[in-house]
Amino acid sequence: MPEKILIVEDEKALQETLAYNLTREGYEPVVAGDGNTAIAKARELHPDLILLDIMLPGKDGFEVCRILRQEMNTPILMLTAREEEIDRVVGLEVGADDYMTKPFSMRELIARVKAMLRRVRLIREEVQTTEKIEAEKEELRSNNLVIDLKRREAMLDGKVLDLKPKEYDLLLYFMQHQARALSRDALLEQVWGWDFTGDSRTVDVHIRWLREKIETDPSNPTRIVTVRGAGYRFEG
Ligand code: CA
Repeated sequence: MPEKILIVEDEKALQETLAYNLTREGYEPVVAGDGNTAIAKARELHPDLILLDIMLPGKDGFEVCRILRQEMNTPILMLTAREEEIDRVVGLEVGADDYMTKPFSMRELIARVKAMLRRVRLIREEVQTTEKIEAEKEELRSNNLVIDLKRREAMLDGKVLDLKPKEYDLLLYFMQHQARALSRDALLEQVWGWDFTGDSRTVDVHIRWLREKIETDPSNPTRIVTVRGAGYRFEG
C-alpha cells in the first residue's frame, strides 16, 4: 500500500506541484487547504507523514501542529516562508519533526520526505522484532524447574509435573514475578481473574499442593516462601 502524505497548503499552485511530485514518487497525496480541514483529514486518514504550511486560513500551521501532536506521532514537516516562523519551528515550540524554508527545491523536499518515512519504518520494524522475540520465547527457567510455555507443562529435573491447570497458572505467574512479594488478593486477581468468587484460602490450598510437587521438603519450603502479613514470594 502506498504511504499516505497529507499536504496542508493553501497556495493552489504549490499544492498541485507537491501532489504531482509525490504521486510520481509512488506516494498517495491527500490535500487540505486550511487548518480545520487538515485536522479533520489527519484524524480520518491517519497519514504516514504531514507536510504543513504555516500561513493558512483558519487555524495556522502552528496551531494545527500543536493539536495533532497531542493526538498522533505522525512525522510533521513544516513549510515555512518567513524568518520569524523559522525561529518558532526550530525552537521546537510546536513539536514539528523537521522544516523546510520556501522556496525549496522539489528534489530536496522528496529526499527529506523519504528520510523521514524511512526513520518511521525503522522504528516500526524494531518494535515488531522485539514483540516477535517476546512471543517466541518458549521457556521459563528457574534452576531445575522449567516451564514449557507452548506445551503448558512444567518440569522438575526434566520430569513433567502433574499439575492442575490452576497450579500451572500459579507457578507460571510466580516464575514471571520472581523474588517479589505477592499478596493473596493479587494472586487471586491475576491467576483466577476478577470474576472468581472464591476467597484467599483458595490461594493457600493451591500453594500447598504446588509445594508438594516442587519443594524438596514441603513443610520447610524454600521456593515458594510465606511472607508474613504480605502473602508469598517465589525465590527461584
Ligand atoms: Ca500559505
